[in-house]
Amino acid sequence: MYVYADNAATTKLRPEALEAFVRTAEEYYGNPSSLHTAGQRAKEELNRCRERVAAALGGTAREIVFTSGGSESDNQAILSAAYFGARKGKRKIVSTAIEHHAVLHTLEKLKKEGFEIVLLPVGERGIVSAADAEREIDDDTCLVSVMLANNEIGTIQPVKEIGAICRARKVPFHTDAVQAVGHMPVNVKELNCDYLALSAHKFGGPRGVGALYVRTGTPLKNLIEGGAQENGRRAGTENLPAIAAMTVALETSLSRLPAYTKRVSALRDELIDNLSKIPHCALNGDREARLPGNVSFCFEGIEGESLLLLLDEEGICASSGSACTSGSLDPSHVLLAIGRVHDVAHGSLRLTLGEDTTEEDVAYLSEKIPRVVEYLRNMSPVWRDLKEGKRTYIL
Ligand SMILES: *Cc1c(COP(=O)(O)O)cnc(C)c1O
Repeated sequence: MYVYADNAATTKLRPEALEAFVRTAEEYYGNPSSLHTAGQRAKEELNRCRERVAAALGGTAREIVFTSGGSESDNQAILSAAYFGARKGKRKIVSTAIEHHAVLHTLEKLKKEGFEIVLLPVGERGIVSAADAEREIDDDTCLVSVMLANNEIGTIQPVKEIGAICRARKVPFHTDAVQAVGHMPVNVKELNCDYLALSAHKFGGPRGVGALYVRTGTPLKNLIEGGAQENGRRAGTENLPAIAAMTVALETSLSRLPAYTKRVSALRDELIDNLSKIPHCALNGDREARLPGNVSFCFEGIEGESLLLLLDEEGICASSGSACTSGSLDPSHVLLAIGRVHDVAHGSLRLTLGEDTTEEDVAYLSEKIPRVVEYLRNMSPVWRDLKEGKRTYIL
C-alpha cells in the first residue's frame, strides 16, 4: 500500500494541467513581448489566462501579476506595502505568529531595517482574533498581513473580518492564501484584501508559478528589474506553459470544490476520530475551522522525525512540524504558538489529504499510525519515565 498524505507540501499535477502545459508549450512558443505573430498569439493567450485567473478570484485582469509562486508573491506584497508606508513615515506591520516563513522571514528582514513588527497570538485553537488585530492598528501601521489558512495545522483565519477593519482604517491588507486557494472559496472582494498570494502547486498546478492579486490603486514595487513584463511589475519572460497549467488547475479545483469539500472533510473527520483514540495525543488546531484535508496531531513521548521514517517504510508519505530534518532543533513556531511545549511539539505529525485520497487510504492510516506510535513509545526512555511516573504527562 502507498498513501500520499502530504498535499500541503505539494500536490500531484492534475492531468488537465499537464495537458494544458504541453499544449501551450507546443502552440504558443512565441515570446509574449515579441511583435510578430507568434509573439502576439502568446500574448493573447497570456491575457486570456490572466482574465480567467482574475475571474476565478473575483478580481479584474489588471489586478493579477504572475510570479514564481507563493514565496515571491508574499515577498512582493509585503515589501511593497512596507516601503510605500515608510515613505509616509509609517513603519509598523501587524501579522500573526503562525505565518509561513515566506512572510515571517520577510518581516524579520524588515525588522532589521527598522520596521516595528507585531505578531499577534493565536491561542490554543490556532486562530487569530480580529479584535486583537484591530487593537494593534494605529496611525503608524503600513500593513496588516494575515494568512487565510495555516499550512501546518490547517486553521482558517478571520480574514474577511480583519480585511473589513483594515479597509475602514485605510490600512493595506495582505493575505497569504496559498493553502486556501482551490481548497475553500476565495473571493478577493469578500475578503476585503489589497494583496493576495497564491501558488499553483498547492492546488494541482506545476511548481514555480503563482500569482499576486493587487487591488487597483494599491502600490506595488518591482522586485525583479529587467523588461516591462507584467505591466512593468515583474520582469522576466513569462512562463506561459506553467501559467496556462495553473489557470486550468485553478478552474478544475473550483469546479470540484463542493464535492471535494464534502468528501475530503468526511475523510478528515474519520481520520481525526480514529487517531484521537491513541492515548496521550492531541489534535493541533481548531476542529471545525480547518481546511478539508488537514489532520495534525502531537503524540507524547515520541519524535516526529522517527515517526515519519517508520511511516515511510510502511508506504505513508506524511510530514512533521518538527524542523529537525532541516538541521535545526527548534520545533515548529506554529505548534509553539498554540501552546505546545518543546517536547510535545517535537512529536508532531501532519497528514494532509487531497483529491486522490480514498476511504481505503484512511483505513490504512488509521491502522498503521497507532501501531507505529506504540512501537516507538516502547523504545522511548521518555515514554518509560512517563509510565513509571518519573515525568508527568502533558497530553
Ligand atoms: C507553500 C506555501 C508558501 C510558499 O509557496 P511556494 O510556491 O512554494 O513558494 C507560502 N505560504 C504558504 C501558506 C504555503 O503553504
